[in-house]
Amino acid sequence: MQNKDLQKYPTARFSPSMRKKKSPLLQKSLSNRLISWFSAHQRPLPWRQTTDPYLIWVSEIMLQQTQVATVVPYFSRFIRRYPSVHHLAAAPLEEVLSLWAGLGYYSRATRLHRCAQFICTYHNGRFPPTRTELMALPGIGRYTAGAIASMAFGQSVPVLDGNVIRVLTRLLAISDNIAAPATHTRLWAIAETLVPVADAGTYNQAIMELGATVCLPRHPRCSQCPVQDLCQARRRSLQSTLPVKTAAPRPRRSHCLAVVIEAAGKFLLLKRPPGGLWSSLWEFPTFHTPTRRSTEKHVLRIMERSLGLSVSAIRAIGPLRHQLTHRTFEYHIFHTRMDAAPPELLLPESDRGRYQDLAWVDTVAQRPCGTITRKIEQAIKAG
Ligand code: SF4
Repeated sequence: MQNKDLQKYPTARFSPSMRKKKSPLLQKSLSNRLISWFSAHQRPLPWRQTTDPYLIWVSEIMLQQTQVATVVPYFSRFIRRYPSVHHLAAAPLEEVLSLWAGLGYYSRATRLHRCAQFICTYHNGRFPPTRTELMALPGIGRYTAGAIASMAFGQSVPVLDGNVIRVLTRLLAISDNIAAPATHTRLWAIAETLVPVADAGTYNQAIMELGATVCLPRHPRCSQCPVQDLCQARRRSLQSTLPVKTAAPRPRRSHCLAVVIEAAGKFLLLKRPPGGLWSSLWEFPTFHTPTRRSTEKHVLRIMERSLGLSVSAIRAIGPLRHQLTHRTFEYHIFHTRMDAAPPELLLPESDRGRYQDLAWVDTVAQRPCGTITRKIEQAIKAG
């Protein structure tokens, strides 16, 4: 009976009318099994066993594009420093960015801070309880709204992340390209029909946990799966071919010059303007260059023109690669050391407008910086 119920979802034949109806038999079967499996097998994580929407929100934002093991210490530190949305809203952005340093995708921290201020200003510091209202908050999309609405407020709404997509496409043997927007729409519609009316928050956590720990991308552990007898991919030996995703385009490659200027033991850092990558973070003076290689002479010219600084000697440190999801940055690092006190310098142009501020620091840890800035500092100290 359960397998027949699953066959209502053949690939690419999902009818719009089905989106509106729940599928009681499959839904009950799936949710009962997933919830009871989850209660026995879930990983103990610091954001579980809570219905506090603030904690759920912070954890969900941190977990975007980031491994659970990386997030755990950041989450604990963040919550200790900002135990409520009021604490976060009242904190200076610079401090929030410092606490985020090393977690990557810094625009998440900026958006978190902005949204906390919005909630305090317009909702008296209380999260609205419905998905629709949550999606009206700045920086909260359908996934995050679904997670908060279901886990904190018990709303029967689904979540759809990479783990859930993998489980659903295998469970229902959906062979459409998951990179296509139409497939995404279809999967959301299926997820809406499957989420149970009661205990949707636990069900959502359970299906994500199944994707993260059992229904793995390469070697799914089907023999340990609580829904193995419902799974069409397993029945038809399609696990290794699902989900189908067209190859992502090769990451765009950019070349940058980063100049470490050291004066009397202090390093020059510049603050990026708001917006875009590494918004409002500090970095060594960095200039985009169309060339793969830069000579010392070329760098000396750039320093003079951009910073108004003339030095006689500079040395090249090996290149460093910094990989983001869709971009690869090749950093060509140069280092100059002066015995004199830090000089007065101009604020140069960054790739997004003029740098906003400058500071001479003993170590980059004194300002909120991205990972690449810390890597460059390590390279200088090692070299
Ligand atoms: S049976 Fe295997 S492929 Fe199917 S949902 Fe479970 S782990 Fe994934």
